[in-house]
Amino acid sequence: MPGADKLKSVFAYHEIIETPAEWEGHAIASRCDVIYDGALSPDFYSWVFPHGETLSVGTGTAEQGFSLRQSITDLRARTGLDTAKTLRTEGAPIPMKPLKRWDDGKHVLLCGDAAGCVAPASGEGIFYAMACGRMSAETMMEVLQSNDPALLRNARKRFLKAHGKVFWALGIMQYFWYHSDKRRERFVTMCDDKDVQRLTWDSYLNKRLTRKEPMAHIKIFFKDMAHLFGIGPARG
Ligand SMILES: Cc1cc2nc3c(=O)[nH]c(=O)nc-3n(C[C@H](O)[C@H](O)[C@H](O)COP(=O)(O)OP(=O)(O)OC[C@H]3O[C@@H](n4cnc5c(N)ncnc54)[C@H](O)[C@@H]3O)c2cc1C
Repeated sequence: MPGADKLKSVFAYHEIIETPAEWEGHAIASRCDVIYDGALSPDFYSWVFPHGETLSVGTGTAEQGFSLRQSITDLRARTGLDTAKTLRTEGAPIPMKPLKRWDDGKHVLLCGDAAGCVAPASGEGIFYAMACGRMSAETMMEVLQSNDPALLRNARKRFLKAHGKVFWALGIMQYFWYHSDKRRERFVTMCDDKDVQRLTWDSYLNKRLTRKEPMAHIKIFFKDMAHLFGIGPARG
């Protein structure tokens, strides 16, 4: 598809390792650590996610040339996971923006990662790939029934109508808050706020920007601005 080679991507890499025996029953083995640290990723987050008997230790960045493998070596050393057995290593690009066109006007229609349907800021792509797949299949049925390939364009339109606002808002969030270590620290501080946590949770679960609690939105807007301009307290 034209422009697909220029798709802006975050490169993600993770190592699946055995959960050390001494971690069993410990809180660290049942919580997700999300780490904002410029040394581990200049523009994204790194993570330690428990998967029961295994752990995923990973990171991502849009910066070409940044060594993801070295970052994970450092993160594993930092968290005492350097001696744990590595079972598997995986890496892949995660697209950051829906492509301008998903079809060739004839018989090809992209969806999911190939169409760029991964939410900015969170990198959440599984739900969106499935939603996109359903919309693409429905569109294909219409194309087959009408014999009009021009209708292939409807898949992208449907997807953006349903999720475009969330992608737009998360894109702005990523642009502002993942920009530098200072902003990332402010972002983490902001996430301490109960209103932010409630509205973010609701939006993530329901996959739409919540319209409930307009006062909470107004409060968050002012807190957002205060943090952006450095008026709010920063984490030490
Ligand atoms: C390290 C990492 C962590 C992630 N974490 C999360 C997360 O926590 N939550 C989340 O929501 N998303 C996450 N994502 C993103 C998510 O995995 C993707 O957005 C999602 O899997 C996209 O689904 P897809 O069906 O479009 O593509 P894929 O899941 O990539 O599926 C494409 C399939 O096509 C196959 N294929 C490729 N070429 C051919 C060919 N020529 N012929 C036949 N088959 C072919 C591939 O083998 C693959 O099975 C993560 C991604 C990475 C890389």
